[in-house]
Amino acid sequence: MSDSEFRLSFEFFPPKTDIGREKIIQVRDELAKFSPEFFSMTYGAGGSTRDNTKGLVTQFNQAGFSTAPHLSFGGDTEEDIAALIEEYKTAGVNRIVALRGDMPSGMGGASQMVYANELVAFIRERFGDHFHLEVAAYPEIHPESESYTTDVQFLKGKFDAGANSAITQYFFNLDAYFYFTEQCHKAGINQPIYPGIMPILNVQNLLRFSNACGAEVPRWLQKALEAYGDDEESMRAFGLEVVTEMCEALIECGVPGLHFYTMNQVEPVKTIVDNLGLTANS
Ligand code: FAD
Repeated sequence: MSDSEFRLSFEFFPPKTDIGREKIIQVRDELAKFSPEFFSMTYGAGGSTRDNTKGLVTQFNQAGFSTAPHLSFGGDTEEDIAALIEEYKTAGVNRIVALRGDMPSGMGGASQMVYANELVAFIRERFGDHFHLEVAAYPEIHPESESYTTDVQFLKGKFDAGANSAITQYFFNLDAYFYFTEQCHKAGINQPIYPGIMPILNVQNLLRFSNACGAEVPRWLQKALEAYGDDEESMRAFGLEVVTEMCEALIECGVPGLHFYTMNQVEPVKTIVDNLGLTANS
């Protein structure tokens, strides 16, 4: 597989402070050396991060860094969402990560949520083929999902509505990704499904977040990480080794690329990508 065929992308979340916003520029510039196809910027459903996401996505695109906003309806009207997408289009954005999102507590019930396939269909209807549309996929199955089969069918629904490719929730069980992509293929999904990669930075945060989003931290990995106790530096070094080996195995099996959840930090992702030999340009 040549480097040009292999897709790298890096995800950020919008910082709330000026210091955070300055730092993210440095992180972006460092990671840009790996020639990613795009960066992406998360979005709080219900518009909770709208201005921050929009500001940074616009700024990054105008500076020449292709950056995709994550987007979901939340409680917004069709006209609000169409206006936001129009602003993105004007700012040179050509890719969107289309999601249902999760409503933050206190911002309304599940009845207001619009499934991602509906957002994809809405963008295609209003904006034609202008945007490359990414959607979310869940190798270990979305926590609210009724069954494995329906989750795969709903992913197919997103592609049928016009999505171009999918990015997965992070996972540490390689078999889960390979079985999932096989099932997707059998269900008639032929579009690429890019593995989402989470560097291991903090054990307690990882366990809490994984529990909430339905990503399993295998028992052996949890025990091995916990054995480092307060020795965070050694824990992180071990975590980077584990994630690097996982990426190597994925690449070996022919994945079309990797999407990194950077957590707005340069070093962990840089180390993994360097370890993989996907060398930076300078
Ligand atoms: P959907 O694809 O709409 O699925 C949601 C649930 O409903 C699933 O259980 C599915 O099986 C079911 N379902 C889907 N379609 C239908 C249907 N037509 N009828 C009935 N049931 C259906 N969250 C954020 O808030 N902001 C972000 O920026 C963000 N970025 C993400 C990026 C990636 C790559 C991933 C993997 C997740 C991200 N998330 C983000 C989390 C995501 O928003 C949540 O997992 C959310 O609960 C589901 O979003 P979705 O787009 O996958 O939803």
